[in-house]
Amino acid sequence: MQALVTQPGVAGSTGVEEVPDPRAAAQEVLLRTLEVGVCGTDREISDGHFGIAPGDGGRLVLGHEFLGVVERDAHGLRRGDLVTATVRRGCGHCPACAEESPDACDTGDYVERGITRLHGFASELVAEAADQLIPIPPALGRLGVLAEPASICARGLRHARTIGTRQPWSPRHALVLGPGAIGMLATYMLRLDGIETWTVGRSTGGEKAELVAAAGATYVASSETPLEDLRAETGGFDIVVEAAGDAQLMLAALGLLRRNGVACLLGIDGRERAVSIDGPVLGVDAILENRVLFGSVNAHRTDWRAAVEALDAARARWPGALERFVGLRVPLDRYADAFGFRGVKATLQIAPEGPAAA
Ligand code: BGC
Repeated sequence: MQALVTQPGVAGSTGVEEVPDPRAAAQEVLLRTLEVGVCGTDREISDGHFGIAPGDGGRLVLGHEFLGVVERDAHGLRRGDLVTATVRRGCGHCPACAEESPDACDTGDYVERGITRLHGFASELVAEAADQLIPIPPALGRLGVLAEPASICARGLRHARTIGTRQPWSPRHALVLGPGAIGMLATYMLRLDGIETWTVGRSTGGEKAELVAAAGATYVASSETPLEDLRAETGGFDIVVEAAGDAQLMLAALGLLRRNGVACLLGIDGRERAVSIDGPVLGVDAILENRVLFGSVNAHRTDWRAAVEALDAARARWPGALERFVGLRVPLDRYADAFGFRGVKATLQIAPEGPAAA
């Protein structure tokens, strides 16, 4: 079968290759891959900056945003059922992983499909442990490919709520920095929770601004409105989600919060540089106003289920909007176009049959 393969650490080594078909072990289900989403992590791996191949350290099959269809009845699943699959598997020797919370792994020895020491899903067939599969409702169809990025948002927002509610807390205003897939999904989830939301992108207008508005949020172009002005206008934010992947913005998030506010960092920025903040924002405001800045990675099984529910609710509430998130669907051999896409989400359409692409 064909798969999208790379050699971690070697830029430009990505390509479509023939690899052996998987065989489903006793506890596994054989799946046919419909679609795999592409994100910044895939680009980083393909550029040679991230990722570890399984076993002897050779090649890694890419892809961790999976939508597949059951190929053969097994473990209560029927041929034709739509599923997605978790990304991270536990290290096997820490309390968090023992409690089935590899998203909170305490050793860093976890493995992740398509990223760290486990092959990913960008191949025609996949064998996956039944207990790592998350059902996708048929009504969601191809939108199920958004489940993985949605699970990242679900975890981040769940943690923000947990932190916020350590004391009396009624969040009303949220700010999302970055209108990519994570920022857009966070925007939709915040709107589903009834929170007034402002979402910031660099440019004015366009598809991303329209998608923000479609969920009743306000799009703000940072080229026109400085974030400090937005803070002054709104009185500051109860929740800030950083999804732009800019360490300077991450730090600035602390200054955009209002009293008791919580800022959640979901983007990644590995650039070697110093970032700065006005001393009193950290030394005075953060303390006198009980502000919190925290990071969140990966997702718990409960977040995956919440993500699927949120996608289904968003689909029903804003008809046609989620369908526009995937702005580019290409076959496996056009992976370079998907990697270069700068809209909300591009996917590799591996099996063109199955539920219709929106
Ligand atoms: C994935 C996460 C993963 C993280 C770190 C992200 O792109 O969505 O599941 O934990 O990368 O490898």
